[in-house]
Amino acid sequence: MPEAHPLTITPPSFADRGELAAFQASALRRLIARTWQRIPFYRRMWREAGVDPDSIKGIADLARLPVVRKQDLENDLRAHPPFGSFQGDFPSVRLQASSGSTGKPKPVLHTRTDWENIATLWARRLAAQGVGPTDRVQVAFAFALFIPSFTSAEGAMKLGALVIPTSSGAITPSARQLELARDWGTTVVGTTGGYALHLASVAREQGLDPKRDFNIRAMYHTGEPLVEETRRRIEEAWGCKSYNNYGSVETGAPAWECARQNGLHINEDAYLFEVVDPDTLAPVPDGEEGALVITSLFKEAAPVIRYMIGDIAAIWSEPCGCGCGFRRLSPIRGRIDDMLKIQGAPVYPTAIEATLRQFQQLGPEFRIVVERDNGVDRLEIRAECGHGHGVPDAELADQVKRAIKERVGCTASVALHPFGSLTLPEEVAKRTKNRYVLDLRPKG
Ligand SMILES: [Zn+2]
Repeated sequence: MPEAHPLTITPPSFADRGELAAFQASALRRLIARTWQRIPFYRRMWREAGVDPDSIKGIADLARLPVVRKQDLENDLRAHPPFGSFQGDFPSVRLQASSGSTGKPKPVLHTRTDWENIATLWARRLAAQGVGPTDRVQVAFAFALFIPSFTSAEGAMKLGALVIPTSSGAITPSARQLELARDWGTTVVGTTGGYALHLASVAREQGLDPKRDFNIRAMYHTGEPLVEETRRRIEEAWGCKSYNNYGSVETGAPAWECARQNGLHINEDAYLFEVVDPDTLAPVPDGEEGALVITSLFKEAAPVIRYMIGDIAAIWSEPCGCGCGFRRLSPIRGRIDDMLKIQGAPVYPTAIEATLRQFQQLGPEFRIVVERDNGVDRLEIRAECGHGHGVPDAELADQVKRAIKERVGCTASVALHPFGSLTLPEEVAKRTKNRYVLDLRPKG
């Protein structure tokens, strides 16, 4: 059995970066040794790249290993069905999968130790976000193939909190979620940012004040980039703190916000994060944005080793006021896969979302529709008015249009819809992640 990599709920403190690097180097050597022995996918890749695994001694050697892209994992899945050769032959007890936004779900196996470690890292996140034994944590993420519903619930239980696993709105409709939150005194909610805003709308429709009629003091989010303006809307609506967490099924639970809400601490005792130029793969200095490349040091089954996850962000090395010595990740600008090219110019949906959230008159729902008309890309924003904000007016639509032009740099037509008319509530409730973009252009 490979040696377990001990992870603790309280982040370990290292005397200096040198001591941390030595700790990471020994974890990396263990990871490389067991992976070389037991995971054909990496063995093949490293052989092809002419890498001798024994020559990887420390962090400085990491860049000699090839970068793994999503496409490499997808090809491996096709060549070695049903789970691919990247999982290895570890005694796995659990399969979770990506939600398959770009195709079929990607299965990721976990050993008992892997599961325990990810739960511990969730406990670390939630502890930093103020969760403790007196909390009642309502987990409104889908309990299915989506991993953070389960692992965040396990993490909350490790802290002695009472977990209320309501799952997403498809299992427990929004009105019932709110009723249970009131009846059972929920203090913390785990949900996507979009669903947090939707729940506030539903509460107001029922004549409730989300701030006054509930006892919710914090929400934690993951699974999609949390736009700063969306966070502010959530905090205003619920009168609570809203915390961002970064991770995915392939990586587990790598980064979290502390109470300062200023960047996400990377669990540097469990992961190596690099930022590179997405085209040349050259390293990008701390503070500058680039493509994230992630290595999970503890993971036995299906570890990621120099995995380019497709997210754009920077690493901040300045110390954080909270005292945690781990460097921070900037908020994610976007996922490369989600970037739209409109008339050749890159547009991140998160930038459009951020602009719309500045308008208090607008509700949580919107759509970004891209069409091609006579060879010209056309961008249309459909947004709905907020509850109690009356009917759409042309002046507001014009203001939104100008704000999009100013902030995102592209021209869009803006259509405003009455509250509740853009999407059926059931549809919103069923989403694991938000689907804001409708790209109707011919493919290829
Ligand atoms: Zn901090």
